[in-house]
Amino acid sequence: MKPPPFEYAVAESLEHAIGLVETDEDAKFIAGGQSLIPLLSLRFASPTLLVDISRIAELRTVQNLDGTLTIGALTRHADIEHSPVVRDAVPLLSSAASWVAHPQIRNRGTFGGAVAHADSAAEFPAVLLATEATVVTLSREGERRIAGVDFFGSHFQTALKHGELVVAVEVPAANELTRWGFSEFARRTGDYAIGGAAVSATVDMQGRCTSVRAGLIAAGPGPTLAEGLEAELVGRHVDESAVQTAVALAANLLAPEANVHGSKEYRRAVVAESLRRALLQAFDLAGADIERRSA
Ligand SMILES: Cc1cc2nc3c(=O)[nH]c(=O)nc-3n(C[C@H](O)[C@H](O)[C@H](O)COP(=O)(O)OP(=O)(O)OC[C@H]3O[C@@H](n4cnc5c(N)ncnc54)[C@H](O)[C@@H]3O)c2cc1C
Repeated sequence: MKPPPFEYAVAESLEHAIGLVETDEDAKFIAGGQSLIPLLSLRFASPTLLVDISRIAELRTVQNLDGTLTIGALTRHADIEHSPVVRDAVPLLSSAASWVAHPQIRNRGTFGGAVAHADSAAEFPAVLLATEATVVTLSREGERRIAGVDFFGSHFQTALKHGELVVAVEVPAANELTRWGFSEFARRTGDYAIGGAAVSATVDMQGRCTSVRAGLIAAGPGPTLAEGLEAELVGRHVDESAVQTAVALAANLLAPEANVHGSKEYRRAVVAESLRRALLQAFDLAGADIERRSA
């Protein structure tokens, strides 16, 4: 199928982009086009105007300053995957980036686009939930800073209003007490996840867990924060049995949707196993070196 007809305008600056989108209530921003163009071709979206933001150079920056990694919205997935700055500051993010689609898509898709698209099966929203990241937006009303948990909603919904642009995401940088793990199941390398989990935790000098959060992939109608982990894991030296109990509690609270990849029960089991593996990896426990790329 071909996309429905639309007007196209190239934005030269942030103000220009916001001004252009405001002229038409059915206008949409386009960045890498890796989600929007397929949606247009399938006629799942029919904007009357596309405002291309891909030439706004100030949105393509990555910097680690005062314990915060700031990623500009136009940073490509491939930049995140290969950036030494990202790997040093938030290795969980570099690891997750290598799971996003194929190299061709990672070369064009943007971080801001993936965040605004808010697919439940996408890797970056899960990492944002695990790391307590903040989404920075700009609109005619000014800047907003929105915590990941408040940003993502159900079925591709976000806190973004019409004319509001994601400009950056701020992620707390890891330190020597940070632990992380990532695990995902997909049928083939590059496919969307059937289930997955991104874990970020901290420990004290004695190795006891002081905080733990997990963003779950394809676990519900939107990006999902795992519930119940802290009650089971914080304040102790985490072992395999504690991980098992915590995963069982968290999985019980999930309601993944059945689809072509499997029933609700199957999908819950896949997410639970991903969470178990990501937690084992984070806390450096036996079994953490299991094959991570197989379905
Ligand atoms: C075959 C295939 C496989 C894929 N597999 C995966 C996968 O495994 N994991 C995964 O996470 N993704 C996957 N993707 C999606 C890909 O990562 C996209 O690049 C990403 O979701 C969107 O980024 P984009 O820059 O291409 O956004 P676009 O397609 O340009 O835009 C997507 C949406 O975000 C809005 N938008 C874009 N930028 C902004 C902004 N700065 N502020 C506000 N709104 C904005 C647009 O209006 C649109 O609604 C896949 C895509 C394809 C085609």
